[in-house]
Amino acid sequence: MGEFDLIAMIRRGVRGAGPGVALGIGDDAALLRLPARAELVATTDVLIEGVHFPCGTDASRVGWKALAVNLSDLAAMGAVPAWVLLALALPRADARWVRAFAKGFAALARQHRVALVGGDTTRGPLSITVTALGLVPSGHALRREGARAGDAIYVSGTPGDAAAGLAIVQRRLRGAAAGASRALRARLDRPVPRVALGVALRGIARAAIDVSDGLVQDLGHVLRASGVGAVIEADAVPASAALRKAVADQRRRRELQLAGGDDYELLFTVPRRREFRVPGIAAKLRLPLTRIGTITRDRALVVRDSDGRRVRVGRGGYEHFA
Ligand code: ADP
Ligand code: MG
Repeated sequence: MGEFDLIAMIRRGVRGAGPGVALGIGDDAALLRLPARAELVATTDVLIEGVHFPCGTDASRVGWKALAVNLSDLAAMGAVPAWVLLALALPRADARWVRAFAKGFAALARQHRVALVGGDTTRGPLSITVTALGLVPSGHALRREGARAGDAIYVSGTPGDAAAGLAIVQRRLRGAAAGASRALRARLDRPVPRVALGVALRGIARAAIDVSDGLVQDLGHVLRASGVGAVIEADAVPASAALRKAVADQRRRRELQLAGGDDYELLFTVPRRREFRVPGIAAKLRLPLTRIGTITRDRALVVRDSDGRRVRVGRGGYEHFA
């Protein structure tokens, strides 16, 4: 099994053709055709074993997640994914691992009709770098800097599940029932990039970000970019049934919801006059979209409970080199 056999194996597993692919895998670089009046949205994310996923994680889950985190970044921009590149460093030419990885990667790639158009394959400590390219009508991308005082702050889905899944894997959280435990782990291993939501929010949301490092920390990025503050109602953040079952203690649950990462939900702000359009999107996508706070003029971020007491959020979310 050599480098080129591995590339061939990935190629067999993952679709390479698709709209706009003038030349895919096989030459020195791919040739991609851009539609008129569209902007190319480009993002890349590295996943390292032991840092971004636990050592020994099932390869098909790694394949899914490596693509999912990148599609999530495109979703947060309101872009439709079109093409991806995949750079793999593998400790050894492990055909079984690569086949399983390609399977997980392909399962999500198929759902979004993205074509794998290139990459690189080398020997080294296990790491996966995906570059995702998407399209958005010119001038319509969702950005972090658009939030204004008075905007409502929404979050999709049920934050905290992935962090609880990680706590279960790392045995910091014990005693959860098997069903809840499985559901939470699935949210960690197979995050669903909110691509359709990102597209639906064009022209409705004023700012958006995907929640990868923790709700409060990622909201902080929006606030700084927009030069505003926020009040977050901690008790408004929706908790899944699995999370409520697995973590009975409300303070601990809140911590997972506000500071835990890896959810890949979208956090976005909507001006009041457009809020009436949010429930329709939620219904169409069958995805809870919950108002959790308000953007304010002063630049502080206040998190409070339903009695109006300040809630302290511990570790502000995940940060490398911290
Ligand atoms: P070069 O040496 O010119 O960079 P490579 O031999 O690395 O070319 O790759 C040959 C072809 O296979 C290129 O088109 C490259 O994009 C593609 N490729 C290599 N590794 C991967 C991978 N992991 N996934 C998808 N395509 C890959
Ligand atoms: Mg190369």
